[in-house]
Amino acid sequence: MHRETKVLVIGTGFSGLGMAIELKRRGEHDFVVLEKAADLGGTWRDNSYPGCACDVPSHMYSFSFEMNPKWSRMFAQQGEIFGYLQRVAEKYRLRPHIRFNTKVSGAQWDDEAKRWHVTTEQGDTYTAQALVAGVGALHIPNIPELPGIENFGGKTFHSAQWDHDYDLTGKRVAVIGTGASAIQFVPEIAGRVGSMKIFQRTPPWIMPKADRSINGWEQKLFRALPFTQRAYRNFVYWTRESSALGFAVNPKIMQFAQGIAVRHLKKQVPDPALRRKLKPDYTMGCKRVLISNDFYPALGYPNVDLVTDKVSEVREKSIVDSAGVEHEVDVIIYGTGFHVVDSFDYLDIQGKGGVDLAKQWRQEGIETYYGITVSGFPNLFFLLGPNTGLGHNSVVFMIESQIRYIAQCLRLLDQHRAAELDVRLEAQQEFNTEIQRKLTKGVWTQGGCKSWYLDAQGVNRTVWPGFTWRYWMRTKRVRAEDYVLTAAK
Ligand SMILES: Cc1cc2nc3c(=O)[nH]c(=O)nc-3n(C[C@H](O)[C@H](O)[C@H](O)COP(=O)(O)OP(=O)(O)OC[C@H]3O[C@@H](n4cnc5c(N)ncnc54)[C@H](O)[C@@H]3O)c2cc1C
Repeated sequence: MHRETKVLVIGTGFSGLGMAIELKRRGEHDFVVLEKAADLGGTWRDNSYPGCACDVPSHMYSFSFEMNPKWSRMFAQQGEIFGYLQRVAEKYRLRPHIRFNTKVSGAQWDDEAKRWHVTTEQGDTYTAQALVAGVGALHIPNIPELPGIENFGGKTFHSAQWDHDYDLTGKRVAVIGTGASAIQFVPEIAGRVGSMKIFQRTPPWIMPKADRSINGWEQKLFRALPFTQRAYRNFVYWTRESSALGFAVNPKIMQFAQGIAVRHLKKQVPDPALRRKLKPDYTMGCKRVLISNDFYPALGYPNVDLVTDKVSEVREKSIVDSAGVEHEVDVIIYGTGFHVVDSFDYLDIQGKGGVDLAKQWRQEGIETYYGITVSGFPNLFFLLGPNTGLGHNSVVFMIESQIRYIAQCLRLLDQHRAAELDVRLEAQQEFNTEIQRKLTKGVWTQGGCKSWYLDAQGVNRTVWPGFTWRYWMRTKRVRAEDYVLTAAK
């Protein structure tokens, strides 16, 4: 099948759905959304592991134009966020625009026709004036190649591909990693598994989680007087925004929060030897800061062990650590996160002159303009692209800023009767020099850790360096002078 459309959007997470809504709002109905899975929801469809929840309060982790007075907890669980996205898609009648089970395999810019040619794994082709990639930054499971894993005779799965048909009751479980997902699912399953060995490479900083259920009267208030919910959302936003001071401006400020985390650890882990293993030796914020009230207590269960020696070999029924201890296991669960800086390797995008985006980024480093446009790749837009991730606030805020920016770019094309909009290389380079200068002063570089925010050269290609309101201000209006607009041939 071949189809021509004005705008082609990839993905149905917050990014793709938000973009589709904005297009409809602006009266643009000539668009198609491609989704490789059988349902919408992105992160919140895939991560159905026990205990999965957001770690930014739900009143902030949602669309600003679609507040949900019915959130049942401060930090909603996966099912509730998934349901929210489903409802939003229904309300804005997005489903007729979505092609499910359609995985984009490549996109080539046609400089003659000034169009993107997009191919899918299913053999369909699309031609579009603009291509919007909302493919997700935390989407492709990262599964480490453990030595000897091919010999393992038991079950393995990643947290984002949880096997709900596999009964963990009484099983000997190995958990690889102690990141954001692992600390959520470990307490949920620790009580029913036979034994659990948690392999930790680096301990995360864990803060107390200010979670509670939201009372009926609060929900009624939010529904009856939406401005109260807006006020609460603003309160959450500014409280979290203030923490950017410690991340980006002066990492020493983090000492205050570290004090809270150390007290949390002391209170929850009475065993000093275990506490020593769990206390990070880098500045808080260098890696993603986690929140939990039940992870540390789960480590105290008699059937749970924290292993800080590396995995040196996997055998048919066991894992041998670097201290030579053999741990018998039936199942290995990877809580090892996602391909982040290398996630674009999975996209085959060719711009002007057939330049391969992934290859260019591998050779020269990932550079974009505001994480949205890339010089030499006209009419291509990223949502939640490089250097727009966050450690301190809701990325939905960033996504909404980007959606508005992209909509303006599309309008610019129409207003100038142009066929092509390409960001000037000088503007892109100036932007990257500026953000990299800021990032090197921030905790991600100064904090003394190695994180998934950094590429192989140690350059941060993932997070926005600081306040999100600055990003919002700077992307509020597209500077036409930063772009070259070209008419059709
Ligand atoms: C467990 C978990 C918890 C999180 N909690 C928070 C939080 O509390 N706060 C926060 O700010 N952020 C959080 N995040 C980050 C989260 O990823 C973002 O907040 C947000 O969900 C990203 O939305 P997205 O639409 O950009 O990407 P995704 O939700 O990943 O959606 C991308 C979509 O694109 C589709 N897709 C990808 N490639 C293709 C292709 N080639 N062809 C067709 N379709 C394709 C995917 O199937 C998917 O549906 C969390 C992430 C995870 C994994």
